[in-house]
Amino acid sequence: MIPLKRFGQNFLTDKNILSLIISRAGLNSQDCVLEIGPGHGVLTRAILEKEISCLHAIELDQRLKPELEELERSKKNFHLHWGDAVNFDYESLKPFPDKAVANIPYNITTPLIWNLLKFSPQGLKYFLFMLQKEAALRLIAPPDTKERYPLGITVEAMGRAVIVKNVSRKCFRPVPEVDSAVVEIVAEKNFGLLKNSAWSELLHRGFAHRRKTLLNNLKGFKNIEISEWKKIFSSLKLDENIRAEDLTCEEWLKIHEEAGKNS
Ligand code: SAM
Repeated sequence: MIPLKRFGQNFLTDKNILSLIISRAGLNSQDCVLEIGPGHGVLTRAILEKEISCLHAIELDQRLKPELEELERSKKNFHLHWGDAVNFDYESLKPFPDKAVANIPYNITTPLIWNLLKFSPQGLKYFLFMLQKEAALRLIAPPDTKERYPLGITVEAMGRAVIVKNVSRKCFRPVPEVDSAVVEIVAEKNFGLLKNSAWSELLHRGFAHRRKTLLNNLKGFKNIEISEWKKIFSSLKLDENIRAEDLTCEEWLKIHEEAGKNS
């Protein structure tokens, strides 16, 4: 099978990194695991070697059907699903997963994590992902840095993210053009933050034009008058010239709360 770039097919070949992922995930008999993109099943088999309650894997590339279906036949607690993990109907998964462990196709990283975080109220609260190194750094970027972006702020608002291990590109076949990192995300609070689109809309609007001030970006948002935004900024002691990337997570949460009262 020829690996396809558009499916982010860089398969993990390094056994040490595989062991590190498995041991870090701390899988136990209560866990129902979600894997995105099982590929040839190297991580899938390692997860299935653990005593877990079940594993759901979602794969897009139908060419992998014969080998993955063979694995499914041999393991009762392995459930294979075909489709695009970004638009997948996660509600339909039974039992519902509590941990997601995956070597993610790089091109879907941001929309996939946004989507999966929405399911923390249903119990999906632990994520261990192999990501492109730059994406990992953006996820943990602090305020006042140019890497700061909406998803990183959301992860911070809902819990914590750490880079567990930097991973060389040589650990994959074919060798990608970028290095990777294993990132752990644990959702522990504000589980309802993504129950509607208000939080995501606020952040994306705030970051729409990075050169503009936050106040300028928010002009006209939710029909809130600029004078109201100025009052909100003043009540939060925020400088009117502040830019989106400079705000702390707590400041974003307060703006979100105030905007909710005014819209
Ligand atoms: N888990 C395997 C490993 O670690 O070697 C493969 C990882 S490879 C980086 C990414 C996998 O995700 C590929 O099998 C690819 O076909 C699959 N994939 C790509 N886009 C996808 C999507 N939108 N939804 C589900 N799977 C996808």
